[in-house]
Amino acid sequence: MDKKAADRIQDLQYFGEFGGVNPSISDASTYTFLSAKTMFDTFEGNTEGCYLYSRHSSPSNLYLGEALAAMEGTETANVTASGMGAITATLLQLCGAGDHIVSSRTIYGGSYAFLKNFMDRFNIQTSFVPITRLQEVAAAITPKTKMIFCETVSNPLLEIADIPALARLAKEHGIPLVVDNTFAPLSIAPARLGADIVIHSLTKFINGSSDCVAGAICGTREFCLGLKDVNHGAGMLLGSTLDSHRAASILKNLRTLHIRIKKHSENAHFLARRFEKDGLRVVYPGLLSHPGHPIMRKQMETEYGYGGIMTLDVGDLDTANALMEQMQARNLGYLAVSLGFYKTLFSAPGTSTASEIPEQEQKDMGLTDGLIRFSIGLDNDIERTYHEMRSCMEALGILHPHETTA
Ligand code: PLP
Repeated sequence: MDKKAADRIQDLQYFGEFGGVNPSISDASTYTFLSAKTMFDTFEGNTEGCYLYSRHSSPSNLYLGEALAAMEGTETANVTASGMGAITATLLQLCGAGDHIVSSRTIYGGSYAFLKNFMDRFNIQTSFVPITRLQEVAAAITPKTKMIFCETVSNPLLEIADIPALARLAKEHGIPLVVDNTFAPLSIAPARLGADIVIHSLTKFINGSSDCVAGAICGTREFCLGLKDVNHGAGMLLGSTLDSHRAASILKNLRTLHIRIKKHSENAHFLARRFEKDGLRVVYPGLLSHPGHPIMRKQMETEYGYGGIMTLDVGDLDTANALMEQMQARNLGYLAVSLGFYKTLFSAPGTSTASEIPEQEQKDMGLTDGLIRFSIGLDNDIERTYHEMRSCMEALGILHPHETTA
């Protein structure tokens, strides 16, 4: 029987140098060779199992990469110093001057800015399309298009990309489907649904402790080795390398990801249901009212739920800011960007993580001023959290006491 992702991670067995239950951390930037010839062959990419220099690879980074590849069901994976390090290396590896990219228009603001502003320097143009309208995605593909890029569950609007349909479309045009799966680790396995390359910001759920930034590129051996090529590899040459100590600590946190994701999802689903019942404008892929709900159901691993992210639209920016400040003052979470922490994090994307997207484009895609993005934490008693959040909303007149249906 096909093993589940969490079981594939669990079944990886490593011993440290002295029999430790965690692999030893490779505390070195460079590696010795007993023969000069082996060093030369390693530079040429002809030696297996030899380490050269830690920007190229290191044992700790390889261990983490192996575990992430096991999770995503890809041949291998490279780890990087940030999620942006993974995205920029991948995109630059696949595109050259004059090429074209078709990208979802609802993506993380940093990815959007890189595609729209930075790639323009190399005359690499991007068409931003509504990813849920397949005909528009297909119509944007030209002979110069080198990839389709999207997020499985988009930041911050939580649109759900139909990965099998997009993979078929990409295949028809002989181009790869590159998917950022940062919002849905374990819940969605894009490579198993047909995506060619799966990217993660490990900074978020996978590490889960908001203490570092890191990223990963999961794909074929050929693509990942190409990224490390000493002459042409965007990973090797742009130098976005993860430090071994961080790779080791992320690997330890990855081991509890399956438990954490279930709890994040359970808590977010609970709050989304309650606030929707209260009449608030809630977006959460687990709600029947979410337009992407049927697609999410079709492609998700049910046991992990619909993820830890939900949004609430409270009408305008002032109200959103006041609510976030109140919630932080009541210790319900932190007014902070990022996601996947044990504690709830909230921010208004229009003025933070999506602020790189021009105002008119934010409006066109439905990103409103009063939208708050919540990364729901691992709260033990989510009912208690609900009542406390409600009480903040009542204090600000967003909800009135008699509206409660609980
Ligand atoms: N992809 C998504 C969906 C994100 O939300 C983010 C950051 O918020 C990134 C990529 C970038 O990751 P990092 O901050 O680790 O560079």
